[in-house]
Amino acid sequence: MGKYCFAADIGGTTIKLGLFSDAGDVLNKWEIPTNKEDGGSHILEDIAAAVKGEMETRKLTKDDVIGIGVGAPGPVDKDGVIHKAVNLGWGVLDISRELSALTGMTVKAGNDANVAALGEMWKGGGEGFKDLVVVTLGTGVGGGVIIDGKIVTGCMGAGGEIGHIHVEDEEDECCGCGNKGCLEQYASATGVVRLANRKLKTSSADSVLRSGEVNAKTVFDAVKAGDALAVEIAEEFGEYLGKGLANIACVTNPEVFVIGGGVSKAGTVIIDYVQKYYKKYVFHASREAKFTLATLGNDAGICGAAKLLFE
Ligand SMILES: [Zn+2]
Repeated sequence: MGKYCFAADIGGTTIKLGLFSDAGDVLNKWEIPTNKEDGGSHILEDIAAAVKGEMETRKLTKDDVIGIGVGAPGPVDKDGVIHKAVNLGWGVLDISRELSALTGMTVKAGNDANVAALGEMWKGGGEGFKDLVVVTLGTGVGGGVIIDGKIVTGCMGAGGEIGHIHVEDEEDECCGCGNKGCLEQYASATGVVRLANRKLKTSSADSVLRSGEVNAKTVFDAVKAGDALAVEIAEEFGEYLGKGLANIACVTNPEVFVIGGGVSKAGTVIIDYVQKYYKKYVFHASREAKFTLATLGNDAGICGAAKLLFE
């Protein structure tokens, strides 16, 4: 049995790679560019070459390595088949079989957000828990639902797509998915900006946000400084996300919600607003769920991809 495993977190511009020990220590991490030419057909070859190069440098043989874990941006089913990754130009692709054929090693693959959730459970903000929901507030809202230590993948790999939970009937603009009123439209970094711009338009109140750039960071900085208009924006953000998480809790009854992504860099102030509305809407038996911040940042993906091999 090998003692090491490789991890690859495939993004639209870079592929993050890692070499892990079986104790979960990162022995090396590096990045290569994502080559999206020819419908993304060189991506797995590039990962195979990077893995082989690292093995040569460290004089590792196949017997030393358990396999390669992969996180990919699209719905990945239990067999490691991705069903369309728009960002990479991929249609349906059997990641596990193809990368295994290139390397002769075991390959396990999952959706990038789900895999990142697994990483946070293993080594991050969800460490020590087995029933958790990881929410990533980035450009969009991603997430992973873990029940009894296992990712909820679903039949097509679209489990944990919490960004597209419906939270608003009165919405005119479309979400990236084509629907209207998705959680992502209010709780992502771009969603916070949308809420802020609407508020600035409809209110005549003075605010520091009326001068300078409006983004998730400046909004929550203003909240911390006591800006009344920014506080109203944070209340709206908290109500949408709190309501969404309360709905998830009715299905999953988690021990903890782990909040990550760029928006969460504002810190525990996020949790204050989300938890307030979570408690308002949630079913009583899930009321005491904990809220923590993710701790792994950009390493959550490779960490969770490695964990796929140690399952
Ligand atoms: Zn949507």
